[in-house]
Amino acid sequence: MSAKLIDGKAIAQQVRDEIRAEVEAWVAAGNRRPGLATVLVGDDPASAVYVGGKQKASAEVGIEGFRHDLPATATEDEVVAVLHELNADERVSGILLQLPTPAHIDGSRLTTLIDAGKDVDGLTPISAGLLAKGLPGLRPCTPAGVIELLRRHDVQMEGAEAVVVGRSDLVGKPVAALLLAENATVTVCHSRTRDLPAVCRRADILIAAVGRPEMVKGDWVRPGATVIDVGINRTDSGLVGDVEFESAAEVAGLITPVPGGVGPMTIAMLLRNTLDAARAAAASS
Ligand code: NDP
Repeated sequence: MSAKLIDGKAIAQQVRDEIRAEVEAWVAAGNRRPGLATVLVGDDPASAVYVGGKQKASAEVGIEGFRHDLPATATEDEVVAVLHELNADERVSGILLQLPTPAHIDGSRLTTLIDAGKDVDGLTPISAGLLAKGLPGLRPCTPAGVIELLRRHDVQMEGAEAVVVGRSDLVGKPVAALLLAENATVTVCHSRTRDLPAVCRRADILIAAVGRPEMVKGDWVRPGATVIDVGINRTDSGLVGDVEFESAAEVAGLITPVPGGVGPMTIAMLLRNTLDAARAAAASS
């Protein structure tokens, strides 16, 4: 392997340490402690683990946790009432509705009810609009984590050819918008893209967010390119990304592993968003 590894675990820890120090300084200066509210509906074990992880991580950096766990029998109106209550609660800087919700609840519609100033997942249409227009706002966590990894490795984004494979609202589109805001020349690929390998070979920065195990091969990678693998795929041989790591690492200059690359950055950026939301709320009150 000739590529240098991007250690997402270490960078996420760095970010979390920085946030802990910033939260303490913020509180010491007389400001209200930032608060993160999670809303979990139903008893899906994976969702419960994710919510627990987010609450634990926020407690570790000094963010106050507000946990609302509703039974699977909760009605949409009940969830709406909780979201309205949290929107109005000054102790709550950020609100996160854990998806997926049970089938009888339209999770993506309910997400739109979250106040844009508290949208720490950065997924409401208002947050997406602010990002598309290049206006200040809360950015989606995984895409923001991708940019943070590039920044902390001093990867030149301005003027770079960036190719994003995947155009989901969750990852592909916001990553592309963030790279554009960094003045990269961005190409977004998807399932109808013609000659995907050739397009990928143009990239100085190649982002894979497809959800197909090891689809991006080493000979799709331009020598020396930075390869960021967002994919998380569970296979019989364990967790793998969307990039065939072995072959890509022979060609790339920098590469993220899976696991331990982009994954750990998501929660770190959620904490960053919660602190940013608390600061913005204080500035506007
Ligand atoms: P989606 O399924 O929502 O989107 C996948 C995208 O890939 C679509 O735009 C689709 O194109 C495109 N695509 C599918 N097949 C091909 C193909 N053969 N060639 C080119 N493009 C293709 O996935 P997400 O964006 O939500 O997630 C992508 C991956 O990232 C997943 O593995 C997911 O688990 C992971 N992930 C990781 C996170 C983390 O914290 N690290 C967080 C979120 C996601 P089209 O639009 O044409 O259908």
